[in-house]
This record gives sequence, C-alpha cells and structure tokens, in this order.
Amino acid sequence: MSDKKKKMALHWKILIGMVLGLLIGIIAVKIDGADSHTAKQLVTDWIKPFGKIFINMLKLIAMPLIIASLIKGVSDLQDISKLSKMGFRTIAIYVATTVIAVTIGLVLVNTFQPGTGVSDATRDSLISKYAGEATQRISAASKQADKGPLQALVDIVPSNFFEAAADNRNMLQVIFFAVFFGIGLILIPPEKAQPVKDFFDGFNEVVLKLVDLIMLMAPFGVLALLAGLVVDAPSADLFKALLSYSLTVVAGLSVLIIFFYPAMVKLFTGKSPKFFFKGIAPAQLLAFSTSSSAATLPVTMERVEEHLGVDKEVTSFVLPVGATINMDGTSLYQAVAAVFIAQVMGIHLGLEAQLSIVITATLASIGSAAVPGAGMVMLVIVLNAAGIPEAGLALIFAVDRPLDMMRTIANVTGDATVSMIVAKSVDKLHEPKPKEWDDFA
Ligand code: ASP
Repeated sequence: MSDKKKKMALHWKILIGMVLGLLIGIIAVKIDGADSHTAKQLVTDWIKPFGKIFINMLKLIAMPLIIASLIKGVSDLQDISKLSKMGFRTIAIYVATTVIAVTIGLVLVNTFQPGTGVSDATRDSLISKYAGEATQRISAASKQADKGPLQALVDIVPSNFFEAAADNRNMLQVIFFAVFFGIGLILIPPEKAQPVKDFFDGFNEVVLKLVDLIMLMAPFGVLALLAGLVVDAPSADLFKALLSYSLTVVAGLSVLIIFFYPAMVKLFTGKSPKFFFKGIAPAQLLAFSTSSSAATLPVTMERVEEHLGVDKEVTSFVLPVGATINMDGTSLYQAVAAVFIAQVMGIHLGLEAQLSIVITATLASIGSAAVPGAGMVMLVIVLNAAGIPEAGLALIFAVDRPLDMMRTIANVTGDATVSMIVAKSVDKLHEPKPKEWDDFA
C-alpha cells in the first residue's frame, strides 16, 4: 500500500507528457522560423507516429471491450425489464443533458455576441482561405442528410456481425448485437448460459488488463500527439481573429465540465466533485489529447467502473451508447458556431431559428461520430435548418481542432456523469475498489 502511495498519479504523468509535447512542438516551430521545415519535419517523422500508434492501440481494443462487457453486463441483469428500465432512463437523461448544453451555448453566444467584432476583411480572408475545406465537410454532411427519416434506425441493425465489428464507426450496430446476444443468454437455461458468461467475463478481464498496459504508455502517447498537433497548427494570427468565438465556446464547455456535471453528480449520487474529478481525470486528459470519445472509451469504462464505483452492468451499456450518441460538448459548440456564423454574416436569428438550433443541434450531436472533427460535419445540418449559409463553415475552420479537443472532454465527462446517475437510480453504485493488480492509482 505504502509502495503505491509513492507512485505519481496517472493524471499527473499524462499532464507532464502533454506539457512536454506542447513544448517540443513550440520549440520546433520556433527553430524553423518562417521558411524552414527541418525541425517540424523531424517531429512529424520521428515523434508524431507514436501518437498514431497510441490511438490505434486504444481503438484496437474498443470493439472487443464493448462486445465482452456488454454481453456480460446484459446477461447479469437477469431479467429483461431491468434492461428496458435502464435503457429508457439512459436515453432520457442523455437527451436532457444535451438540450441543457445547447441552451447554455445559445445563452452565451447571444450574450457575448462574438460575431459582431469580426471585421469584413477578416471575414472575407477566412472564407477564401478555408472555402475548400468547408466544401468537403458540406458534401460529407449532404450524404447524411439525403437519407430518409427512419434511416438512423435502419443503420443500427447490422446484416452481418463481422462486417459491423470491422469498422469502429459501427459501434451502435455492435452494441445492438451484443445486447441482443445478452438477451438470448438471459432466456436460455442457466446451466447452458454459465460457460458462455464465464468466457466473456474472462475475456473482459483480459481486455481491461490491456487498457492498463496501454495506459502505461499514455504519457508518451499524448506527448507525441500534442507535439504533432502543434507543428501542424495554422498560424497564431487566425486564432486571434477568432478569439472571442473560441472563448465563448470554451466558456460554455467550462460551465458544463466544471459546474454542471459535478453538480449533477453531487445532487443525484451524493459524491463530491473531488471524488468525481480524481476518478475521471485521466479519461478527460485523453479525450483532450485524442479528440475522440471513441478512442477514449476503453479508458472511460475502466475509470468509471474501478474508480467511480459504477457496476459493470451499467457501464457496459451506458458508456458505449453515450460515446456514440451523447455529445453535450459537440451540441453546445454547434449552437455557438451556428449563431456566430450568422452574426458575422449579418443574419438576424429570431426565436424560431434559435429553437430550430436547439432541436437540430441535439439531433446532430446524436448523429455525430465519436471521432475528431465529426461535430463540424454535422454542423452543416444545423446551419441548413436555421437558414445560415453553409459556406460560413470556413469562418470557424482555423480553430476547430483545439475546440474539438475541449468539446471531447465535455462529451466524455457527460457520459461518466450519466452513468453514475443511472447506476444510483438502479442501485448499482458502490464504493470503488481498484483491482489489486491495477497498475495505476
Ligand atoms: N471529437 C468529438 C468526439 O469524439 C466529436 C466532435 O465534436 O467532433 O467526441
């Protein structure tokens, strides 16, 4: 025990990795100055690939983890009515938190009016500079919008399990199969079900151990990711032009992360903010570094189960579903971005347009994939609904990545919060007990 105390907590190690990564990136940019690329190239060739390897490792275990833990989790429920009770609560709370997030975003963007400070010259130069990138996002979004109203439902049911499991974007399809399989397991005689359950139980332990092992490399992984991001970042001038917009998004996300979620946790489960943040911090830092709730999912699951005390029966369902459909940070960002673009373009948005933003941003965040930049593609749909020109997307392109990193923290924290609340409501929240062989505190 005393041995364990001496070890530095994981979130500190990750933070140190992040700071070092930023420093390496900044130094490379400074060494190169305006016309050289040598130092930046060195970072791109020799450091950045380790970030990619780290993300790949995380993604690699996401599918096996969902399959094993969900089948085990559902079959442990014993009866199907428990599952539908939990499912209904989960979806209802997810939608409620998303609507609250969009509303916070709308209040802030209407109060601060960040779009009114952008000069016509900046607007025109941003639009011409990023028009190409904006068009790409717009055509990606139009593919989504062309589908019929029930397409989202059809998309959840795979026609082939292996095809579904072969692509991390099909998480909802795999969730569907695992829940379906778990239900079958509940319905067969216990003596037949037991060996199957034992298998998935053991399988799940192995995957969680793999999460532990991958997390040992997390400080180095985030170092590589951030160093790579800094050398690829556009010039700081653009950030300045978009400063008040960025600050509005960050302010909204901070309200969610620092006040709203801990308050919900305290109110519904009685757990303190300190307990909550200590448990979830490594997942938050990883969300920031990877910009992907899907890549962070294995770590979120491990932290919520072993450090926040939520039973596997709950996490195995609530967290993978949340990673795919619950994106409070993304919906808040979409609301702020849509109104900001309208402000810059001199379009007045009445109550009706703002309400349509609440509805479409909620739906668009549900439809956004849990990968970097997905929120921006779905923003096109929000812009369409509110009658704002799609080309306005070019205005916010330059600062999207850092804001994506921030909104992913909110997305992951929101999932963890809801899983605690659902767990409490079905009496599945207990004192956390990290495994004896857990390598990090
Ligand atoms: N990167 C976000 C996530 O994975 C989605 C987005 O807002 O782009 O949660």
